Amino acid sequence: MPTFSNPSEIARETLRLLASRRMPPSPDNYRALYHEISGTVEKANHHFPERELKSLLAALPKETPAQQRLARQLEQALKDESWESYRGLLVDFLKANSKVTELAWSELIGDFLRQWESKQARFTPGRKRDALEHVLAGSASNSEILFGRLQNLVKSWALDEAPAGETGLVDEIIDGVGARPSNGAPPAPAGAPAAQSRESERFPELRDLFAYALEGPIAAQLAEEPELSAEVLSLAKDVRGARSPQDIEKLQAGMKRLAFRLELITEDRAELRSGLLHLLRLLIENVSELVMDDRWLHGQIEVVRDILAHPLSIRSLDDAEHRLKEVIFKQSQLKQSLNEAKEALKQMLAGFVDHLAEFADSTSDYHDKIEICAEKISKAEDISQLEDVLGEVMRETRIIQINAQRSRDDLRAAKQHVEEADKRIGELQGELDKASHLVRHDQLTGTLNRRGLDEAFEKESSRAQRRESPLCVAMLDIDNFKKLNDSLGHDAGDAALIHLTSVIKDTLRPQDTVGRFGGEEFIILLPDTPLDDAQRAIVRLQRELTKRFFLHDNDKVLITFSAGVTEMRQDDTQPTVTKRADEAMYAAKQTGKNRVVTG
Ligand code: GH3
Ligand code: MG
Ligand code: MG
Repeated sequence: MPTFSNPSEIARETLRLLASRRMPPSPDNYRALYHEISGTVEKANHHFPERELKSLLAALPKETPAQQRLARQLEQALKDESWESYRGLLVDFLKANSKVTELAWSELIGDFLRQWESKQARFTPGRKRDALEHVLAGSASNSEILFGRLQNLVKSWALDEAPAGETGLVDEIIDGVGARPSNGAPPAPAGAPAAQSRESERFPELRDLFAYALEGPIAAQLAEEPELSAEVLSLAKDVRGARSPQDIEKLQAGMKRLAFRLELITEDRAELRSGLLHLLRLLIENVSELVMDDRWLHGQIEVVRDILAHPLSIRSLDDAEHRLKEVIFKQSQLKQSLNEAKEALKQMLAGFVDHLAEFADSTSDYHDKIEICAEKISKAEDISQLEDVLGEVMRETRIIQINAQRSRDDLRAAKQHVEEADKRIGELQGELDKASHLVRHDQLTGTLNRRGLDEAFEKESSRAQRRESPLCVAMLDIDNFKKLNDSLGHDAGDAALIHLTSVIKDTLRPQDTVGRFGGEEFIILLPDTPLDDAQRAIVRLQRELTKRFFLHDNDKVLITFSAGVTEMRQDDTQPTVTKRADEAMYAAKQTGKNRVVTG
């Protein structure tokens, strides 16, 4: 075959060969012949498989930022018709991916803890916590995204030297490529005109917010540090006076200094708090050892200890205080009663000893007198003399007899008194044992009882009024509970009640309060919750109950309830709001049960 070097000659020869070999004039046949004629046969056999690679790219997942980045890079490799880079990208991605799943979590957690504990000027513990919450909230459902963002977060803490004033820098780092639009377009460069004008529009609002944060919440934390508080207020004044972001930037050094000192104070306070808590725990431990044999006090102390073992809140401290007051009150009651009983015993014993002494005196007196009488009898010369002596003997014997009887009666009475006092002490102890559970909690389910509910309602409603925040009340009644009791037995019914309360406690927020209103009826107080949210929370509880079956003899038993939810109004009292919740619950029963109705 003659050789052709000119492309147009090669093209003409290609067409001629297509015709003479009677090949269909497809692009592939044309390409194959073209390379055959031009002597580039090798390359023709390895033509770039664009179509196949495109379909592979289309099928790849593009959910995570890393996958989206890979897709963009592969697209570029396709455009460049570069198999090498296409292949390299895929191989690198898979290698990196397997590495992440194998080992990086432990490293990342180690790095995270190091950075969390180390001090940085720009990232105060509060800011770190906020950033972490932001990351967790935005990526909790995807471990890969979470990993990437967490990694970026740790990097941003490590790069604490990054120039300040670049607001949004941290967010950008954290969000990484995940924050970019899914079409792969890079984010608009900082300082682009549109972004700039948006920034200047928002400046006054952000400036005022910043100043407010300094004057309000931050200054309020510094009541015990007048000097620092004055510094904060002066900085707030300067912030308010700023006319542009550049003015704020000038305040940067002061802010850094302030942030650092605030951080130190926060740390000191946290240390102080944990020290106090430690002290309190120690105290509780010791008290509990001192009252080893008093079951009632022991139970109460256990409760306080349990409260202290969980994260502290105003509510849990309130609870602890309440419990401690009860312990102190009951303890003083018990002490007083025991002292009274002991005093009574002492007096009885003293009286008895007196009687015994008297008795002993009178018997020795009697003996003396009888001896004298005996002497008189032996010396008597006639019967009339004997008569007198016998009369004396009789009189003395009667006296001693009366004394002996009185002593015996006194002894019996004392014995009875001792037994009564002993019984009273036993009863008292029993009452206190019972009171341990009956004070504010229902014995079966451990939720609040009516009295506990009254107190909780009092506390929550006045708190809601004080804070002008919504308080919702839900009334729950188990559906067809009688049937469950009848078919599975009363004990199974009891266990079902316990199961329901444990699901309630696990599902609702810690600040929500549960109380047993009656047999299979429960009241839930939901502070800080508008009606819609409260309804949603109770519906969520219903769903949770269908997932967590009650097990009876390894059989799954489905428990459902009907509920009425209502929001506390200005002129409501506990009875009116409870009545409304009850009516709504009744409506739920009437309209088919297993429903939540608002009222
Ligand atoms: P509804 O769906 O209309 O609420 O019907 P119900 O069967 O749940 O309601 P009803 O008021 O007719 O029956 C309530 C039953 O709850 C009757 C009583 O025996 C039972 N019960 C009440 N307190 C307890 C308890 O402490 N333990 C047990 N096991 N059962 C209880
Ligand atoms: Mg009922
Ligand atoms: Mg019922």
